[in-house]
Amino acid sequence: MLFNYWIGQLRLLIIDIARGTNIRKQLAYLRREQYFNSNEIKKIQKERLDRIFALAQTNTDYYRNYKSYEELPILTKDLVRKNEDGLKNKNFKKKLFKKGTSGSTGTPLVYYTTQLAQSFMWAGLLLSWEVTKFVVGDRIAFISGSAIIKSSTQHNIFYKLLNIKCYSTFTLNDENIQHYIDDIKKRKTKLIYGYATALDKMATYINNKMPEITFPHLKGIVSSAEVLTEENRKNIETAFKTNVYNQYGCNEAGISAFECEHKKMHLISTRSWYETDKENNLISTDLANEGFIMLRYFTGDKVLFSKENVCKCKRNYPIIDNVIGRSYDFVVDMNKKVLHAAFFNILFRNDPTVKQFQVTFNKNTIKICLNVDNTKSLCEYDIYLNAIKKHLHFEKYEMIFNTPFLTAENAKHRYVIDETNLAG
Ligand SMILES: [Zn+2]
Repeated sequence: MLFNYWIGQLRLLIIDIARGTNIRKQLAYLRREQYFNSNEIKKIQKERLDRIFALAQTNTDYYRNYKSYEELPILTKDLVRKNEDGLKNKNFKKKLFKKGTSGSTGTPLVYYTTQLAQSFMWAGLLLSWEVTKFVVGDRIAFISGSAIIKSSTQHNIFYKLLNIKCYSTFTLNDENIQHYIDDIKKRKTKLIYGYATALDKMATYINNKMPEITFPHLKGIVSSAEVLTEENRKNIETAFKTNVYNQYGCNEAGISAFECEHKKMHLISTRSWYETDKENNLISTDLANEGFIMLRYFTGDKVLFSKENVCKCKRNYPIIDNVIGRSYDFVVDMNKKVLHAAFFNILFRNDPTVKQFQVTFNKNTIKICLNVDNTKSLCEYDIYLNAIKKHLHFEKYEMIFNTPFLTAENAKHRYVIDETNLAG
């Protein structure tokens, strides 16, 4: 065991040397920091905020004239686009890395990050995996689209060193799922990391076709990049016979959160200065990115923080109750009434025959696409249509069963598709 640990450290050391990062050091630090008392954590966070705000005032054009953090405007993606040069720290001498967000909200965002911020990101991710008793060097399966998997040569070397094998979700048909499952088992995979909906789809396949299969080497599954519902979790845990932990990150905002052994989601709060507005939109500053400074960045995610701040695991990072979803997951009806995708989640939650849903709407029509297991007659689903009619006003309501869902370019599942602009 100890031998494996040191081999893992060696792998991280090689990565750090090759990429100029210090993931190894940051991870060692986070392992201790998570148990610091909450005042100490808050103190570190505040010191880092003061530091980054002072850097922004002195070294960027965009923030030069602001006197306090509180008076800063919310930084939207659009403002980042328009002020690319103004956000750069002019005295930052180290290398800046160009990054793009996945663009599931429409236009992708280009921003820059630093080796330190990247080190924090990877350290945070490794910390989340360690909840499963994962040790660096353990074989990992990545099940995702472009938001997680990158395909450059440099990334390939990185994946090799971390013992990651990628399984793309772009064509997740039965044949591929079977192949992925066989390969994951054969490779003695110890950790699976991937999109909630892709994992859920594979789990449904297993539960239907091969419920007896076991993965004796698997230590756990970490789900990311999408909302993980309790149904998803149960389905995946049943199929793979192991624990599923949720992980949530918004890298450009310094947000990295992970579920502990007690399934409470802890936010690594020393890397971000965060707040939520009245609509629960998460607004945050990456305290580690001193090269391209984005203060009070509008993440586009809605997050509910817990009032509790103690957890049985004794970690003192703040607790997130729920990641409700992306702010664009809304349906707007003919009377301009707005309803969040969570409404549909709740609506279908207690019906085990509904495996997944997608809502498409334009000015006049709403279309509910359901993936169902065919154990009920289709007319039994009319109750849902009636419930929807009570809450949303459209000229036409449609319900469609078991057709392929439209996915975003990065293959994430989309709960709501707004066609109002297309319909004209
Ligand atoms: Zn905990």
